[in-house]
Order: sequence, then structure tokens, then C-alpha cells
Amino acid sequence: MRVFTSDFRDAANNRHPDPFPVHVLKRIDRPTSMILDEQVQRVDERESGFNRARRGDFGPRLKQEVGRFVPKHPVSGALSFMAGALAGVVDGKVAGSRAPLPDDPAAISRHIKEMAYFLRADMVGICRLPSYAVYSHTFADGKPVELNHKYAIAVLIDQDWKTYRGSTGHDWISAGQSFLSYSTTAFISCALAEYIRRLGYPARAHHARNYQVVVPPILLWSGLGEMCRIGDIVLNPFLGPRFKAGIVTTDLPLEVDKPIDFGLQDFCDKCGKCARECPSKSISHGNKVMYNGYEKWPNNVAKCTAMRVGNKHGSSCGTCIKVCPWNKPFTPFHRLVMWSMRNIPLARRFGIWGDDLMGYGKAEERYKWWYDLEEADGVMRVAPKGTDVEFYEPEEK
Ligand code: SF4
Repeated sequence: MRVFTSDFRDAANNRHPDPFPVHVLKRIDRPTSMILDEQVQRVDERESGFNRARRGDFGPRLKQEVGRFVPKHPVSGALSFMAGALAGVVDGKVAGSRAPLPDDPAAISRHIKEMAYFLRADMVGICRLPSYAVYSHTFADGKPVELNHKYAIAVLIDQDWKTYRGSTGHDWISAGQSFLSYSTTAFISCALAEYIRRLGYPARAHHARNYQVVVPPILLWSGLGEMCRIGDIVLNPFLGPRFKAGIVTTDLPLEVDKPIDFGLQDFCDKCGKCARECPSKSISHGNKVMYNGYEKWPNNVAKCTAMRVGNKHGSSCGTCIKVCPWNKPFTPFHRLVMWSMRNIPLARRFGIWGDDLMGYGKAEERYKWWYDLEEADGVMRVAPKGTDVEFYEPEEK
């Protein structure tokens, strides 16, 4: 016997659980940037920029800094500590019997999204888990990854827009912005995976301290954004690049979302503000290339990693996120502008020009609330002043 049937019928009504109007977005069959599914090779997590720095590929100084660039500021240190505390609870025992759920993947998807929103997610999307989105090996133990779940649920958490107003994007709060989202997505993905297991289906959470999957293809297929000029980053039409994602993979039968098209490939072609403002000049002003079966804008991973790990006047770097014209609050004015950017190609150049004219992308001192502190050799001190961009350059082998 099924319980709560009438509730599930209510949930099948046309109301939209999403806090953002995702139902107005144009849905398409494939992501707007090409993915040659047959040619994409699974990625080894040990080859990521941070892990190469950890291995010493970018020189001894960056090898030393990679262990402290997040915890050297107490905000990012505290938040990363919380994400780390959830590294060991990504998986667990599946209930011995299955809950009496409706025989309707669309209703279950809606319910799972409402559960994620109940847990304070900002946006949720679902796709089939592409086999190439599973790491070949993870950094944690270097063993081959075996993960055969059918579906991926992607949960986005916004960083803090107001804090970005006060930040240069490469100061002492930069890693704190990332780990605000990383720690929250860690909590939500672990709780959601545990919930699904209690319903009798396997599920595993993937978050910043324990990923077995590569996030960008999952976000593209689940309709949460398009590839952008920043590089291996997906940009969302309502949050811009100002978010991090946690993932739950599962065999719970779900209805999937479709990829979206909001004109970003054309917008990034015309814009290039992130490339202009990038402190380490890691972002390309040029055209997209094919890399490992993906069409994407190229970026200099060594330089970008060095800027984040070896930033001498801050903790990490998110300048590209800070300056992007899509990094805006969800106010009526910005909703109107974003609608125009999505729907009127001719308005895009005007929007890009207007973004600079309005002074967006500059740090506003009145919004700065954090202390510029740096932990060094076990002592928390006032961070040495320095406004110029300085970082330990990569010494590539
Ligand atoms: Fe695209 Fe401009 Fe944002 Fe860069 S700053 S990601 S070019 S929209």
C-alpha cells in the first residue's frame, strides 16, 4: 500500500518548487558548447591544478603554500574545517526495504528538489550521470573509481553578493566565499544522499572534500548553466559564476532536466571582462578550442592555480567571479537587465558597456566586514598590507 498518495498528487500539480524562475529558460537537447561524448576521457583527479601543486609540479614554494592558502584566513579556515568534517559521511547503509513511493519519476524528481530546497539549496538540477563525468582516480586514495549510479542531482549554493561588493575578488575573504558554498553544499548533499538511502535506494554525496565526479558536465546536462570564458566553469543565468555545487549520485528513478540556452556563448564572445581583469592573466581573450572532447575557452591552469595558492595579499582568488556582469543580485532592476541579456542579442554589447559604466567590478569599502588576518607559523596576525597583486609564480617542470 502506498502512503501519502494525495500529497504526491498535490506535488504533481503545476506549481514550481524552484526559488528562481528556471521554467522560463529555453530548454534544448544538448549543451550549447559541444561535447563529443565518445571522445571525452575520464579525468584523473590527481591531475587537477591544486593536486599538481600539492605534488610539487609548480615548484617548492607552491607545494608549501597549498596546505595553508585556505586555512590561513580564519573565515575560510573555519568553513573548510566544516566541509572536511563531512568528508567521511558521503555514503552509508541503504535501508533494507524500499519506501512506498509513487511510480512516477517526475513526481519523485519534484519531491527531491523540494527536499533540497528545504535543506536551503539555491538551485537544483537533475541529469543522467555521464560515465565520463566520473573521475578515473581520486586524489584521496589514488584508487580507480567505481561508480555506476544512473542519475546525478546537482545542488547549487550562492556565495554572498554583498560580500563580493566589498571585495576585490583576490583579498582575504576570497577563499571564504568559496568555502561558504562548499561547506553548505557538503551539508546538503550528505543529508540528501542519506535521505535517499533511507528511502531504500543507493546514493552518494560528492562535495569539495570528497568528489568522485567532475562537476561541469553534470551542471551542463542538468540545465544549470552554460560553459563560460573563465574556463572549466559553468555560469548560471541567475547566480552568474557566483556559486559552488555539491552532487548526489543515485539509482532512485528520476525524471531528468534538459540543458539550457540563455545566449551565453555569444555573450562571452563579446564580453571578455574576466580575461581583462584576471590578476594572473590566466583567462583567454581568444576563441574556444576543443579539449578532451569538450568545446571550451582555454585557460592557463598553472597560472590560475599559482594565483590562488600563492596569493601574497589574500586567500585564494575569485576575481573572475567578482567582475562578471552576470554576478548580480536578483532584484527587479537586474532581473530586467538579465532578461534582456538572455533574450535580445543586440542588447548584449550595451549591457557589457553599461556594466563598466556603472562601476560594477570595483570593491566598495563600505561593504567590507571581515578582518584582514593571516595565520602564519601558528600565530594569527594582522595581514601585511599590500594592494598590488603579487603571487608566487609557478615553476613548471
Ligand atoms: Fe563571460 Fe564576461 Fe562573465 Fe567572462 S566576465 S564569464 S566573458 S560574461
